[in-house]
Formats: sequence, C-alpha cells, structure tokens
Amino acid sequence: NKSLAKEFNVKDKLYQLDLENTLYYSLNNEIPLSVNISGEKLKALKTYLNVLIEYFPVYLTKGKIYLQVLKEVVENKSNISGKEFREQVQVKEKKFTLANSGLKNWIGCKGSTPNFRGYPCGLWTLFHTLTTAAAEEIDDVHNNNLPVLQVIHGYVQNFFGCTDCVTHFQDMSKKRKLFEVHGGNESILWLWKAHNEVNERLTGDTTEDPEHKKIQYPSVENCPKCKLSNDKWDENEVLKYLKIKYSKTNIDFQGIN
Ligand code: FAD
Repeated sequence: NKSLAKEFNVKDKLYQLDLENTLYYSLNNEIPLSVNISGEKLKALKTYLNVLIEYFPVYLTKGKIYLQVLKEVVENKSNISGKEFREQVQVKEKKFTLANSGLKNWIGCKGSTPNFRGYPCGLWTLFHTLTTAAAEEIDDVHNNNLPVLQVIHGYVQNFFGCTDCVTHFQDMSKKRKLFEVHGGNESILWLWKAHNEVNERLTGDTTEDPEHKKIQYPSVENCPKCKLSNDKWDENEVLKYLKIKYSKTNIDFQGIN
C-alpha cells in the first residue's frame, strides 16, 4: 500500500483529527438536536453506531470501547431523547475517550475563515472513509444486513442538520438508485460520483471557500491517470486512488497527542 501511495503521489492526506472532530460533533451536537429518537430515527442511530464500531479508524483501543458502550446505551431502547443521548455520550466519553477529546482546529477541512468548511467537509471525509473501510471486508452485510451506503443515507436523512443538503441528497439517492448499489467498490464509486455532483452544483456558490474551490475530484495533479478527457473518468484508476486516499495507511496523526 505504501508503494501505491507513492505511485499515486497522495499529497491529499486523511487527518485523524478531522475524523475525530467529525465524530465528536456528530455525537455531541448533531444527533442530540433531535428532541426524540425513536422508530426509523433510532434504527438509523443504531446502524450508524454499528458501522462506526466496525469501520471508524480509532486511534486508541479505548475509542472502540467508547463506541461499543454507546451502542449498548441505545441497543435495547425503543426511544431516547436527544438530551439523554448527549448526556450518555458525555459520560462515556470521559471514561473511554477518543484520542482527541473535544473540538480541535480542523486540518484538512480547515476553511480560510471559520464560516467555511469544517464539519460538512468532515462528514464527507468520514463517509468516504467508512465506505472505503467496508470495501476491504469480504462482504459488507454483517451490520444488521445494512450496507454502509444505506447507513449513510439513514444518517443524512435523520440527523444531518443542513436541511437543503438533506433534500438534495434524497433526490440524488433516488435518481442514482442508492438502494440498488451492491458491493464495496460500487459503494465507493457511488459516493464519489454523488459528491462530485454536489461539487458541481456548488461551484461559484456563496458557500464556496475562495481558497478551496470546488473541483471535479480528484484533481489531475493528484491523479493524472484518473481522467480520460474533460468529463470522462477511468473508474478503475479513480477507485484505486480513493482506496488509497481514504485508507488507514494514508492517515496523518498531526495534532493528535
Ligand atoms: P467538501 O465538498 O466538503 O469535500 C471534503 C473533502 O473531500 C475535499 O476537501 C476533498 O479532499 C474530498 N473530496 C471532494 N470531492 C470528492 C469526491 N467526489 N470524492 C471523494 N472525495 C472528495 N452544501 C450545500 O450548500 N448544498 C447541498 O446540497 C449540500 N449537500 C451536502 C450533502 C452531504 C451529504 C454533505 C456531507 C454535505 C453537503 N453540503 C451541501 C456541504 C458541501 O458539500 C461541502 O461539504 C461544503 O461546502 C464544504 O466544502 P469543502 O470545500 O470543504 O469540500
């Protein structure tokens, strides 16, 4: 894998701190925004926690225990308030901390000013990391039989705080038939295409960080073999690139103490 990283010249790092910031914000802030978590929402939360246990690249073993005890909190419940979930997150966090506790300054997702990038960037990064990790498994069906892509869909639909984004994501999931995607590699490519569609829509938007312009990813500079022509990709090369960019071996631990 190291030599592949060299071949692909992956300057495009994956930062543990960004992944942990995202997890922190998701569990402490975004999920607790729901007043009551039951039914479909609770199912989405349980499957999300399962996927995190399975695929989140924890830095310390304690991080895995933290996610497992959090899952035990909700496992046998038929409902939990957002407030109670948050309290439980805080109690468990103190005992079984992740490497990085609390929100730190973003690295890969740092905006040129604080109103740009940050958490939404972190969430995409987390989603790509999870689909990539799942593709490393022989089959991605042991998380309550829900493939990672469907768990991501459940998270976005039930918890993502950006309402416009949720509507767009749901439309795109229907149009691009998310529920018909099978297999790890197909899931990686589905999410890559979906993300590029969002990038295209947001090019020139007021939310675009002027110092981090939206591109059709990956750039030619980072992956010269990925693009065949202006709008044609070599999907095998893209898949190879994504599997390196979002792999554990590409994680940079800068800022983690
Ligand atoms: P981001 O687009 O957040 O990307 C983060 C990082 O991922 C990039 O820096 C790059 O390293 C990598 N990357 C970029 N493209 C790809 C790709 N195709 N495949 C793999 N990796 C890639 N904002 C809106 O205004 N409207 C919306 O409808 C909307 N929908 C969203 C839906 C979802 C599910 C999410 C998570 C976010 C959405 N956002 C939306 C937020 C928006 O997409 C960006 O996250 C935000 O504008 C910050 O952009 P960014 O420049 O940090 O890069």
